[in-house]
Parts: sequence; structure tokens; C-alpha cells
Amino acid sequence: RTVYINGQYLPEAQATVSVFDRGFLMADAIYEVCAVLEGKLIDCQGHFTRLRRSMAELSMNLELSDDALLEMHRTLIEKNALDEGLVYLQLTRGVVDRDFAYPPEDTPPTLVAFTQDKAIVESALAKRGARVATQPDLRWHRRDIKTTQLLYPSMAKMAAKAAGADDAWLVEEGYVTEGSSSNAFILTQDNVLVTRELSTDLLHGITRAAVISLAEDEGLAIELRAFTPDEAKSAREAFMTSATSMVTSVISVDGHLIGSGAPGPVADKLRAHYLEHSRAHAM
Ligand code: PLP
Repeated sequence: RTVYINGQYLPEAQATVSVFDRGFLMADAIYEVCAVLEGKLIDCQGHFTRLRRSMAELSMNLELSDDALLEMHRTLIEKNALDEGLVYLQLTRGVVDRDFAYPPEDTPPTLVAFTQDKAIVESALAKRGARVATQPDLRWHRRDIKTTQLLYPSMAKMAAKAAGADDAWLVEEGYVTEGSSSNAFILTQDNVLVTRELSTDLLHGITRAAVISLAEDEGLAIELRAFTPDEAKSAREAFMTSATSMVTSVISVDGHLIGSGAPGPVADKLRAHYLEHSRAHAM
């Protein structure tokens, strides 16, 4: 693979980062993931805007413009002949002696990016539907910042797998916050689409926003509010959203089947619409 690192495109074996990088030592790093379909980027402007927001929250700097980021993404896709998958980008506060205080603002950041193949359209999990298990949400309280502090979501996913599920839905004070790497939705028995309102409790998913807007176009009733695991268990349908899973049905919560235990028609329709919307606006 060809990897981008600080302005250079290098074979992955040569693309190395210092032991003293704050991303490595302190998870002082943020990231973004853009899906790629037919060699084109999906919703990348939304991901770049969220990257800028994460940077601002953490006082991080980057000299590249959004146009330069887009050019870099396109170059990586081309150099790696990527048809379907993702571009991962990570920005760290750079290489400096270990200290809890941020280094001076002129410390050069580390920017790396790479591509990864992934079947997005023909996803086996989306076809079957995902089983989720609830886990306590023990992450920090700034989940709106997309940092690389991913150990707890990893632990929660492993615990969910150990419980026989595919992924975790995280629960705090009795309410679902989001999935380990996705936003969570339910469709109530009264056909109301429910997903948690934005706050610092969850990541402001780019796919979440696009799917809400498509659901509005469909004329679906939408409530932005938290829901409990019990409400999910008795829902008509449930699904999760993320850049690379798009819309993926959830067919059970803690072993309770949702509806018939197969992907629901509304989730299927929103997945199809999001795919169509993505292809129409790919860059
Ligand atoms: N929530 C969390 C915790 C995530 O890690 C992700 C994506 O990886 C999402 C939600 C979905 O965000 P997006 O739709 O922008 O990919």
C-alpha cells in the first residue's frame, strides 16, 4: 500500500512515525474515515468539516486546506487503485518530549492517511442484520470529538462478541448513547424514527445527519431524543449508521428479536436511498 505521511506518498514500510509522537504516547490525535464507492469519496465535505471542529476543540493546527485534503484523498485512492472501501486520516499534535501540557503552537503536527479495501455495498452484516448487546458507556464525556481513544469501544465490542452479538450499543443512565462505532436509531411501533439528539454524549455522525435528512424527505416522523434498551427491544425496527456500514439493520438487542428478526423495510429503504444519494454526490 501507498501511505500519505506529512506531504509524502510512501510505501507503507517506509511510512514511519516517531516513538515520541503524541498520538502514539497520549492518544493526542483525531481521525476521520471517508467511505469510497467506485473510487469516489462519500460525504467527504462533512468529514472534513467535522475534522476542523475536532481540531478547534483541541486547539490543533493544520496548514492544509480542505481542497488540499480532498486532493490528497484522491491521490491515495488513485495510487492504491481503490474501488470500494475507505480512506482513514489521522492528525496528531506531533513529535515532542513527553509532557501533559500541549507543546508550542508551531510544533509541526503529524498527518497520516491510508486506504483500506472494504465491501460496503454487498456487506454480509447488512444483509443478515446485526445483533447488538448493550454495554455500559464508560467512555470520556467529550464523545463529540473524534479522538483515537478507542480502547473502551474496543473493550465493549469484545464484550458484545463474547455475549454472542456482533457489536455493542452503549448505555448511560439507562439510555442508549450510540454504538461502539456507529449512531443508533429505532423505528417505534407507531412508525416514528427515533435517534438521540446531538450533545457531547455522542459523535455527531455524518451518516446520521444524511439519513435524518433522507428520512425527512420520505415524510417519516422523526424524534431526536434518547431511547432505552427496552424501547429498542420492543421497536418495529432498529438500525445503526456510520460511513462504512451506511445503514445497517439491527435484528436483536441482548438476544431479544426486533420484529421478525430480519432487516426491516424502512431500514432497507433508507439504506437504498443513502446509497443512491451517496453515488449521486460522490466526489
Ligand atoms: N459514533 C461513533 C462512536 C463512531 O466511531 C462513528 C464512526 O466511526 C459514528 C458514530 C458514525 O459516524 P459517521 O457516520 O460520521 O461515520
